[in-house]
Amino acid sequence: MPDYIFMLESRLSPEQLQALNQIQQEAQELSLNLYLVGGAVRDLMTGSPIRDLDFVVEGNPLRLARKLEAGGVRRLLLDPDNRTAEMVLADGVSLSIEMARTEFYQAPGKPAQVSPASILEDLRRRDFSANAMGISLTPGSRGLLLDPTNGLADIENRELRVLHNYSFVHDPLRLLRLVRFTSRLGFRPEPRSKELFDTALERNYQDYITPEALGREVAQIAREENVVAVLKAIAEYELLEVLHPLLQKRKPDYDGLAKLQRYCQQAAGAGYRLDPVNLALHYMLRRLKPRLQKQLLAKLGLKKAEVKQVLGMDKETRHWVKLLGRRRTMSPRQVYQLLDPLPVELLLFILAEYSDKKRIQAKIYNFLFKYRPLRQRLPVRELQLMGVQPGPKFDQILEKYFEAQLDAKLRSRPQQLRYLRTLAGLPKPSPKPVKKEKEKEKEKKPALAPHAETKPLASSPAKPVADPAPAEAKPVAKPSAPPLPSKAAPPKKALARPAQPPHRAAKRTAEKPKKKSLRR
Ligand code: ATP
Ligand code: MG
Repeated sequence: MPDYIFMLESRLSPEQLQALNQIQQEAQELSLNLYLVGGAVRDLMTGSPIRDLDFVVEGNPLRLARKLEAGGVRRLLLDPDNRTAEMVLADGVSLSIEMARTEFYQAPGKPAQVSPASILEDLRRRDFSANAMGISLTPGSRGLLLDPTNGLADIENRELRVLHNYSFVHDPLRLLRLVRFTSRLGFRPEPRSKELFDTALERNYQDYITPEALGREVAQIAREENVVAVLKAIAEYELLEVLHPLLQKRKPDYDGLAKLQRYCQQAAGAGYRLDPVNLALHYMLRRLKPRLQKQLLAKLGLKKAEVKQVLGMDKETRHWVKLLGRRRTMSPRQVYQLLDPLPVELLLFILAEYSDKKRIQAKIYNFLFKYRPLRQRLPVRELQLMGVQPGPKFDQILEKYFEAQLDAKLRSRPQQLRYLRTLAGLPKPSPKPVKKEKEKEKEKKPALAPHAETKPLASSPAKPVADPAPAEAKPVAKPSAPPLPSKAAPPKKALARPAQPPHRAAKRTAEKPKKKSLRR
């Protein structure tokens, strides 16, 4: 029998694994039976990337959610009626915790009546067999796979199978979920499920999808890795009509979306964590009149500020493009100062919209893939080793160092170190020993005190990303840093940035309210 815990440990990201261990421990302390369910188990079996972690507890999950919250996990939603919580950890791992339940549906699209149940009953009330598996995280049965509807066999056949004849009647949102998952996973609907799907469409069950459920689903669609393929599949079944008949007719801007997707993937690969929902919505709806877009976005549950953001994207972009294009040459420092306050999502939108403007592209590329990574790799550790205490002077030194890097003044490592020593107020290192002395020294034991000069700079600048266009600005100091660490979530809507290297000094400064910490 496969060791599912071992599989989990090897497939989850370090951050997800840490979240899993944390929640397991907290559940154990509360004597709650805990199970990992849904997409994470499905993706474990299919080998697809595991996106979020869905948990079920037998009993009340709210105590567990509150305990996690007290430990610093951010709460996104706590629904005492349905006993459901959605949370996100500081490093961006999102998780849901639900009470094991049965659902009783009275009418299509109407919320079900929920009552506590066992995990096996809970798994049987789900949408598709592939999504109806669980792995126990409870001592005694830890690692046991629960698969009451034989999802594993359907995964092997690459099929999505609904669990009973009334599945789409009870919850018509499953129509959209079926199309989305068949597209994402490359599965087909199992023949009987397809019949039920077709019948549901003939009878227009999709009209019973509530706006709230639709809003949540549209956000899920927008976060799909291949959003264009998912939307095209939905349009093929004429299900874009659920959003608006005119959208089905005019279709989303697939080309724009595809371009955006490529840039988003590149940024994600460089460690930026993005929330592409509003960008994707913009491309989905842009062929409709603004008034209709506004109505639709409000219907989907977007807040006023978000509606404004989606509708105003073109105008805002024009403003920044004008500023970027105004001067033929801009120093890296000027580019950095101009672009640093902008959300990364907006920069990606500009890249997608102005792909023919080489000069603007080069500036944004340099900013995202050279200057920002340099900022992540400031020589914090080296400065500490030089004996500089964290504080305003520490920050000033790093700021000066960063500026010198942007100005391409620090080309080699010895140069970087010399400059850092000068900024730290240390005397110049003694000249290199002559060869004979060197050989003698080799025989001696190395000195105990860490001499910064003997260590490579951990924070030398990043590997260059090939420019899509010739950079017009002065090149930065020869980039040479290790690849960006890929995790560290900014809160949603905040600037997405590549992750910061963990170090104590950074934590210390993060606690202080400061204008802008250099050591992210
Ligand atoms: P993803 O990888 O996108 O997170 P997922 O399958 O985990 O995929 P979620 O929306 O996170 O999707 O839902 C978690 C689980 O909850 C699903 O796997 C499924 O078991 C169940 N579920 C979600 N929505 C429904 C629904 N409308 N009807 C029945 N079960 C559902
Ligand atoms: Mg999920």
